[in-house]
Amino acid sequence: MSVSLSHTSDPDPSQILHEVFGYANFRGPQQAIVEHVVDGGDALVLMPTGGGKSLCYQVPAIARQRAGRGVTVVVSPLIALMHDQVGALHEAGVDAAFLNSTLDWEETQDVERRMLRGEITLLYAAPERVNTPRFLSQLDSLNERGKLALFAIDEAHCVSQWGHDFRPEYRSLTVLHERYAGVPRIALTATADALTRADIVERLQLDGARQFVSSFDRPNIRYTIVEKKDPTTQLLRFIEREHEGDAGVVYCQSRKRVEDTAQTLCEAGVDALPYHAGLDAAVRQKHQDRFLREDGIVMVATIAFGMGIDKPDVRFVAHLDMPKNIEGYYQETGRAGRDGGPADAWMAYGLQDVVNQRRMIDESPAGEEFKQVMRGKLDALLSLAEASDCRRVRLLHYFGEQSSPCGNCDNCLNPPQVWNGTDAARKLLSTVYRVQQQSGISFGAGHIMDILRGKSTEKVTQYDHAKLSTFGIGSEFSEVQLRGVLRQLIATGALSVDAQAFNTLQLTEGSRAVLKGDVSVMLRESVSSPSDRKKPRREKASGGAPSPAAATLDATGQARFAALKAWRGEVAREHNLPAYVIFHDATLAAIAERAPATLEDLQGLSGIGAKKLEAYGVDVLRVCAAF
Ligand code: ADP
Ligand code: ZN
Repeated sequence: MSVSLSHTSDPDPSQILHEVFGYANFRGPQQAIVEHVVDGGDALVLMPTGGGKSLCYQVPAIARQRAGRGVTVVVSPLIALMHDQVGALHEAGVDAAFLNSTLDWEETQDVERRMLRGEITLLYAAPERVNTPRFLSQLDSLNERGKLALFAIDEAHCVSQWGHDFRPEYRSLTVLHERYAGVPRIALTATADALTRADIVERLQLDGARQFVSSFDRPNIRYTIVEKKDPTTQLLRFIEREHEGDAGVVYCQSRKRVEDTAQTLCEAGVDALPYHAGLDAAVRQKHQDRFLREDGIVMVATIAFGMGIDKPDVRFVAHLDMPKNIEGYYQETGRAGRDGGPADAWMAYGLQDVVNQRRMIDESPAGEEFKQVMRGKLDALLSLAEASDCRRVRLLHYFGEQSSPCGNCDNCLNPPQVWNGTDAARKLLSTVYRVQQQSGISFGAGHIMDILRGKSTEKVTQYDHAKLSTFGIGSEFSEVQLRGVLRQLIATGALSVDAQAFNTLQLTEGSRAVLKGDVSVMLRESVSSPSDRKKPRREKASGGAPSPAAATLDATGQARFAALKAWRGEVAREHNLPAYVIFHDATLAAIAERAPATLEDLQGLSGIGAKKLEAYGVDVLRVCAAF
């Protein structure tokens, strides 16, 4: 049987996209980026996680190799993922390799030899390696022979101290530009507010580079932020209600919280694994591999986990603790739903998060200027969490995009009741003021609320606080309401918490405007249990097939899909790669739907390039023939 698609050496980008990756069209700005880089231009690419950054340098690398220009060097901090990334390229028939500490001496030499011959199309290396004399002299040799095609700098925000993954080794990557001025560079990141972007340009000397900024919207992700009460139980209920059997990531602030949460989830029957920097490297790698290779694992992790994880079918990302800023939140939540199917970003947020994050900034040894920037970034996230309007509009606005209400976030789906908390806020601030005046010391939130609500506690008696003019003037407010007021006052800086002095409340510059009535305080109505509220439940595929890709298949199609998945699992195990590297769920679903009888029937299905057709076409037909 002859198949018209075959390996060519055509350097045309669209042809490469089609032939190597099996995709019909470039997405968004991919084509413009690819053409610019193929022509030798420098580029800075800002695209949300899951937007399709890899192809922006992989296609040019292949095109330039086919045009006789040699090797593309990909600088990436993700040593633990290089094996899979290179494996995915091999599956597509691309000559790729990596150089890192996991290779032994012989393997290293072998890769180096092949690189020096200009045979390798994409060479992945960690930034610390790029700066070794040995590697630089190899690059020199390639460059002298015109065999250094391109530098791709992945996760470029690592160069910026404003980004949340600062890696000092990235700073020295200017050597690439200085030493190999004629070689084009493409830097890519998913993290890029204006400040970080400017820093990347400056640090990597990309002033002359064209900037490609795509929309940061991820329409398939549903954003939900709930008030934190008993976060582990809230999380469990969320998983049980919406994501049984799904792969997900749960982010926690501390290692202990990671351990405890993973255990609780396991006890409740969820397939959860812990991941944090305190675990042995081998255990971390094992858990990461299981997450990538098996279906339906929930990874409970600190932010040490996730960069570069390109698993397409992560159905939810949950935050049990609030991250530091919107960039972190957006990058972490962006790991959900890369395949374009429905996914959730869920966060539990409470007063303690505000206090903790503020304290971490205050107590950090950084300079005042740095702290100011960090506070500004935290404030932006806090106002997102407190918002009663569309979350997505706010997120996109942060990245400089205008949009209208999305219809796919908690606030759009269930517009929260808003109440005017201005009066309560003023009473609360007055109480803080009077208590301090009367007693000469400050008190914590609990005591202040007791005074306001007129409760005769032991402490009230001890300090004679029933005599205060504000005693009992807030009796009409519930404690939940006052907590909300407190949280918002702290979130907006109208009140601060002194961590050095038993978390006591202190008035700030910002208190005055609220006290004078110049600023009104609008609050979300606290609901008893946000996760219990009515929510349009998403359709789940029946018959135990959680993949949204397969949801529309008929019964035979489902059976074919299941058989294809089983076959794919075997291949993936043999090749020691994650299953989605062989074929995405969406590709298997498309095959199951088409019910192919010949190799021609497989052609043109998204995700089946020439190499995969050649390697797996016959097997796929055999699996399908059983139905
Ligand atoms: P990023 O690195 O920006 O987070 P990836 O490069 O991992 O995103 O791409 C996300 C997913 O989208 C991958 O599964 C990839 O195969 C797929 N993808 C990228 N570009 C295209 C395209 N033009 N057509 C179809 N699928 C694409
Ligand atoms: Zn919305």
